[in-house]
Amino acid sequence: MSRGPRLVFADVMGMKLRLQYRRYRLPFRVAVRTAHGWWRDREGLIVRIEEAGGAVGYGEAAPIPHFGTETVEEAEAALRLLGEWTNAEAIAAVPARLGCLRHALAAAGAGKDHGTAATRAHLGVAALLSAGRDALAQIAPRAESGFRTFKWKVGVGDIADELALLDDVCGALPPGAKLRLDANGAWDRRGAERWLERCAERPVEFVEQPCFVAVAEGETARRKIEDLLLGLAGDFPTPLALDESLVGGGDVEHWIGAGWPGIFVVKPALLGDVSGSLARLAKAKASVVFSSALETALGARAALRVAFGWSGEPRALGFGVYPMFADARFDGPYAAPFLRHEDVEAIDPEAVWNALS
Ligand code: MG
Repeated sequence: MSRGPRLVFADVMGMKLRLQYRRYRLPFRVAVRTAHGWWRDREGLIVRIEEAGGAVGYGEAAPIPHFGTETVEEAEAALRLLGEWTNAEAIAAVPARLGCLRHALAAAGAGKDHGTAATRAHLGVAALLSAGRDALAQIAPRAESGFRTFKWKVGVGDIADELALLDDVCGALPPGAKLRLDANGAWDRRGAERWLERCAERPVEFVEQPCFVAVAEGETARRKIEDLLLGLAGDFPTPLALDESLVGGGDVEHWIGAGWPGIFVVKPALLGDVSGSLARLAKAKASVVFSSALETALGARAALRVAFGWSGEPRALGFGVYPMFADARFDGPYAAPFLRHEDVEAIDPEAVWNALS
């Protein structure tokens, strides 16, 4: 069972809090192609909590229902129920099932913003490559600007066509560069095996989510895929990463318990109990890649602070997504080979809030 995030309200229990929210629907500059079709705009909620003493905090709930999170409607209904004047006890009682909303409330409830400590001054960022042959022309300019980790979407076109391109993509990489492959769960066992046979002895850092079934397909199907993923991870030398398989702290706990030997792709916006899950991952000495959930700058700031606070082995961030929104006021830091902690701290959450008025 996933616990909710720890809500930091110890000093304001019983105190009245002003809770406001704004719902957004923001078109992407370019529609995002997913296993569920084209994704044209991002929907979510920005929450603002003001304490009686005047301290203000902001948080973002950016659910992705096809990952298994709540919907924006469900999160908004819970906010309406809390009302504009509420208190820490009522906020703490928001059900754990509304993980994205609880994450937003926890971030906003931290109140006055003192900034966060970072374990390092900068982190690398992975360059995103388009699916298919388009990737080939994108590598040289990104390598030129300094990127050394590249992420290529696979599982979109015909499997044999994509496999035939792998050597061209690897050949176009600069010396010492690493390639991440993200299949978004598109392959069956045979497809995954064909790819993993081919990835051995190539500069592939990991293969993300080779196979997946949604919760809705039932417990038996889910357990079968879990066994398949664990089997593939044991049979091939290229590490595997879980992304779609991780929604909420319960999944993190589950996969640690199952002895997952690969990487955990952590989208802090979708985790619900971020601090609890990260403590668990740290204790298990897990390999973690922090990744965007295509949130606004406000949510990105919260997620990136988590990444900068991680004391485990640093891996390139999956945050090379901006510019992403048609309205640039909502974009996080633009994709560059490195992201500095000070650039994260410079993001102004109030500007995002004001842009929605
Ligand atoms: Mg992924």
